[in-house]
Amino acid sequence: DGSVLTLGETMGLITGSHVGSFAHVAHAQVGIGGAESNVAVGLVRLGVPVSWVGRVGDDSLGNRVVREIRGEGVDVRATLDPDAPTGLMLKEFRGRGTSRVSYYRANSAGSRLNPTDVGPGVVESASLVHLTGITPLLSDSARAACLDVTRRARVAGVRISLDINYRPSLASADEAAEVIGELASSADLVFGSPEEIALVSPRTPGTANETLESLLARARNLEDDDEGIDGLVRTFDPDGRREVVVKRGPFGATSCFDGSSFIAAGHPVDVVDTVGAGDAFVAGYLSGDVQDWPIDQKLTRANACGALMCTIPGDWEASPTPEELDGFIAGGTDPVL
Ligand code: ATP
Repeated sequence: DGSVLTLGETMGLITGSHVGSFAHVAHAQVGIGGAESNVAVGLVRLGVPVSWVGRVGDDSLGNRVVREIRGEGVDVRATLDPDAPTGLMLKEFRGRGTSRVSYYRANSAGSRLNPTDVGPGVVESASLVHLTGITPLLSDSARAACLDVTRRARVAGVRISLDINYRPSLASADEAAEVIGELASSADLVFGSPEEIALVSPRTPGTANETLESLLARARNLEDDDEGIDGLVRTFDPDGRREVVVKRGPFGATSCFDGSSFIAAGHPVDVVDTVGAGDAFVAGYLSGDVQDWPIDQKLTRANACGALMCTIPGDWEASPTPEELDGFIAGGTDPVL
């Protein structure tokens, strides 16, 4: 029916009201955020029905998470955890559109996600399941939940999407390569930066030129190199069986499938806040995917969603509608809001 299921951790988000560190900044805003629920809201804005599964604490922020995502029209299947708090992020602006996010999520309710939180039929009734590489690194039970969902999706013939989204604060590159690589190997659609694609690529241990370090070094700073990106994607998926979408920041994005690759050049924009660009990009891409759009159209929409999100503060609040996207594409740099 063209619906999407996603699961993950959504946390409270405290954002400084102006540039500076919380060592001094006195005023802040309270909101919520999480990669998967950001994608969920992005999809709803684009007209796609979405379910979100997650765990929150029995506290005020948990209440806020549930009400806010539900208020956006997402079908929220949240487990209330009486024994752990809702996680928290702090976002400090450092000027020129850059920010630093700090996480307070160890032993949070969201990180205690487990396979039974994903109820019967929830996977099986979706057209596509979207996961990120964040969730399996939160805990053993969250990893088990991701693996169980991919297993159920494969049995039911449901398409699997993965945004690698490697967070170095959660695991070393070696551990992430193993854990996220396991998920990537069963995904039909994989999103990542060049370095993230390298992270999950198969390697021959002990071979001098195929160590994780050398692969990551090859991928670093490859955002503006079309041929280098094609080469990386071939390392990850030599047969072109998966749809691999490489996010290239200001240089736009490339999508590869079945030996063909498509490029969308970056939109020139005045960057206010890049956080959330990747999630908006994924929402744009998936909205076309569940409607069986051709690759170039999915990529064009995703690339516009990502660029537009860079021009507006907030991680997900300004996720665009189709009309706003059309206005942005037609009008160049000015978001039509
Ligand atoms: P996030 O910070 O949300 O995790 P990400 O690292 O996953 O983002 P990016 O490559 O930074 O992903 O951005 C995703 C997409 O958004 C890009 O592929 C591009 O389409 C768009 N985008 C990001 N930054 C810019 C920019 N400065 N100018 C134009 N488009 C951008």
